[in-house]
Amino acid sequence: MPTYVYDFDEPTDGGRELLGGKGIGLAEMTQLGVPVPAGFTITTDACRAYMASGGELPEGLEEEIDQHLARLEEKAGKRFGEPTNPLLVSVRSGAAVSMPGMMDTILNVGLNDQAVVSEEHFLLDSYRRLIQMYGEIVEGIDAHRFEEALDDDDLPKTIERFKEIYREGTGREFPQDAKEQLGRAVTAVFDSWNTPRAQAYRRHNKIPHDLGTAVNVVQMVFGNKGERSGTGVAFTRDPSTGEGGLYGEFLADAQGEDVVAGTHTPDPVAALRERIPEAFDELVATMRRLEDHYKDMQDIEFTVEDGKLYLLQTRSAKRTAAAALKAAVDMVDEGLITREEAVARIDPGQLDQLLHPRIDPEAAYEVVATGLNASPGAASGGIVFDADTAEDKGKNGTAVILVRWETTPDDIHGMIAARGILTAHGGMTSHAAVVARGMGKPCVAGCEALSLDAKAKTASLNGHKLAEGDVITIDGGTGEVIIGEVRLIEPDINEDFETVLGWADDLRRLKVRANADTPEDAAKAREFGAEGIGLCRTEHMFMAEDRLPVVREMIMASDEDERRAALGRLLPHQQADFEGIFEAMAGLPVTIRLLDPPLHEFLPPLDQASDDRMRSRIRALQEANPMLGTRGCRLGLQFPEIYEMQVRAVIRAAAAVQERTGDAPLVEIMHPLVAFQEELRRLRELTVEVASEEAETDYLVGTMIELPRACVRADEIAEEADFFSFGTNDLTQTALGFSRDDAEGKFLTHYLQDGVLERNPFETLDQGGVGDLMAIAVERGRTTRPELKMGICGEHGGEPASVAFCHTLGLDYVSCSPYRVPLARLAAAQAALAEAGVEAVSVGG
Ligand code: PEP
Ligand code: MG
Repeated sequence: MPTYVYDFDEPTDGGRELLGGKGIGLAEMTQLGVPVPAGFTITTDACRAYMASGGELPEGLEEEIDQHLARLEEKAGKRFGEPTNPLLVSVRSGAAVSMPGMMDTILNVGLNDQAVVSEEHFLLDSYRRLIQMYGEIVEGIDAHRFEEALDDDDLPKTIERFKEIYREGTGREFPQDAKEQLGRAVTAVFDSWNTPRAQAYRRHNKIPHDLGTAVNVVQMVFGNKGERSGTGVAFTRDPSTGEGGLYGEFLADAQGEDVVAGTHTPDPVAALRERIPEAFDELVATMRRLEDHYKDMQDIEFTVEDGKLYLLQTRSAKRTAAAALKAAVDMVDEGLITREEAVARIDPGQLDQLLHPRIDPEAAYEVVATGLNASPGAASGGIVFDADTAEDKGKNGTAVILVRWETTPDDIHGMIAARGILTAHGGMTSHAAVVARGMGKPCVAGCEALSLDAKAKTASLNGHKLAEGDVITIDGGTGEVIIGEVRLIEPDINEDFETVLGWADDLRRLKVRANADTPEDAAKAREFGAEGIGLCRTEHMFMAEDRLPVVREMIMASDEDERRAALGRLLPHQQADFEGIFEAMAGLPVTIRLLDPPLHEFLPPLDQASDDRMRSRIRALQEANPMLGTRGCRLGLQFPEIYEMQVRAVIRAAAAVQERTGDAPLVEIMHPLVAFQEELRRLRELTVEVASEEAETDYLVGTMIELPRACVRADEIAEEADFFSFGTNDLTQTALGFSRDDAEGKFLTHYLQDGVLERNPFETLDQGGVGDLMAIAVERGRTTRPELKMGICGEHGGEPASVAFCHTLGLDYVSCSPYRVPLARLAAAQAALAEAGVEAVSVGG
């Protein structure tokens, strides 16, 4: 029979996966000699067995718990279920991956009527908390019922009332048997793995659903024992900025959930120094030790009981991207970690946060209220007062700010959909603050000037009346709240960002390019460190307002001469665009893709056609399945004059820029949607012929690889290509037979919700299918031409797991949107580090 339970000081073969994050932390702290209450961990194996059997505890688990409980009684010198001064325990959830506030914890298990007959205040307070938590979590009684009945000044009455609520809710008396309490608390924690909010959180954070949670049974220590007791949370560095120094919150004479739930507004942790100096000193020393041991910023929960400090949890602190970078740079300076470790530790996805808008310092606006600067970034949107409305409106693309008294884990879907979050209550470690920071969403918390009537959907902000839909702006970096919309600007990239990305650049092998269609985007991409353009989609130049009429003329032309005349007028525009892009990318390669979409995309809808001639042209071009129709090189072969004009514009632009600047642009001309060697052979011929008519310029001719046939026949296609660029958007569409236009929002959404697929294949590469096709193309392409240059320019080129896969495939570069370039640089470095045995550890939000 497997072992399901381990004492904190007992060696195990399993690590975090088996014991959960909290369990492994408690075990390691115990072994380090940090003051931790005694206890034991029920493993994630037990939870998985419980789930697999449909809710039966695995065989032998109850006996094991009894044995460990007996050992705990021995250590504590108290007995569980004893009438006076019994052993009390907390029953805590703890998954391998941190899911803050998502799962349940029950404190004070083991108390009953007899144990509190002394009427000692803290015992009564602890008992009412037990009934409340047990009632809510084990029995599913509505939390508000308890909250409404709570009277801190008359605890015996509150307890009687709570027991009544329990009886009304369950039809039973509150259980007096400690073992029964413990057993049901354990199964309730297992069950909390699968609550809708935990599932939503996992989906959003891409955490597998089958991990399960461990359960920690910990001897209670009491923060609610009076003046010399209390509880708090603390970080070894500021989780918003990364600045060194103890940072956190302390609540005197209280139990842990008061801080975490944001139901009481705590003091800064420095308050502990004044109240209980010896506990504060020990806290500072302990936290330094933990940081030295883990070589990372820690986030701890602690309790002080009668002046004695206990740590209840330590974990790598969730932090903003700015804090992650600053802490990493500082820790390298302090000699705590190496540059490689620093690079491995930044979550590439989190860098997005630094690229979020902030309020334009030049903008004029009036701050009507200020709350806590809980999560940086600025956002404007119409206010909504509940998560469901936030989700509905957010899904339709409406910018909303979710405004709540405080958030709870049940609000998670609304928080995901909102642009920002504003709460009236709660501190920097309240649910709203922690979750928003993790999501990289602006959040202002604890805004006391805000009062709410969520039912009436109205609010008052320092006396200003607001209704649902009224627009406000919040600045999560300063805590400021403004009525109306304020101009936002792009953020600057700070020095730490440059430092860490500079280290990443030294470590990576993959080059990173950008997908950019305009000189402005090219310039932005370069600022972000792009080493060229991997995809310039020329159709966007056709769509511009001043060109569309000429493009339409070209499409409407009744013969080739007319078509050539219109194309002749488009040429100078294209040439000017290319010149701008070449100049912005001086010294770096630029891949220009010739026209890809079907022509009817440039014509108005049928019912808006101006005359019969246009109507009949639209009809003639219409296709039932345009994505698989006359597009890409098929279009170029049917109307070669279009590609001729484009090649001419490219070569003329290159010559003009060379003459102007003295530098020859590194031009790569790319043909889309090639399936057959013969297609590319003809197009290469066309390209070379036109170019030779224009100027003596070097350039490469290559192709997108975005069809399965092109992958398997890559050896033939490579005969005609200087480079391949994987168009994984179309390759995903065609390999999976999933329409790019229709899958998302329809069956694919269902697949993801139902777990048929773990990840959206249009977002992260389907490595097993599409990835295999790419591997075939790489191998066969290089058989023909060992020096063939290869990259990726589909959306996957900016997604960390896909970037890592491209590294493994041996591609030369990835190309992605300018804003994702920093992320790709980091992901590419992490891929190189992983190959060398340094695994990335994500401790981001
Ligand atoms: C692709 O298909 O991956 C690609 C980059 O081209 P587009 O998205 O323009 O079809
Ligand atoms: Mg494509």
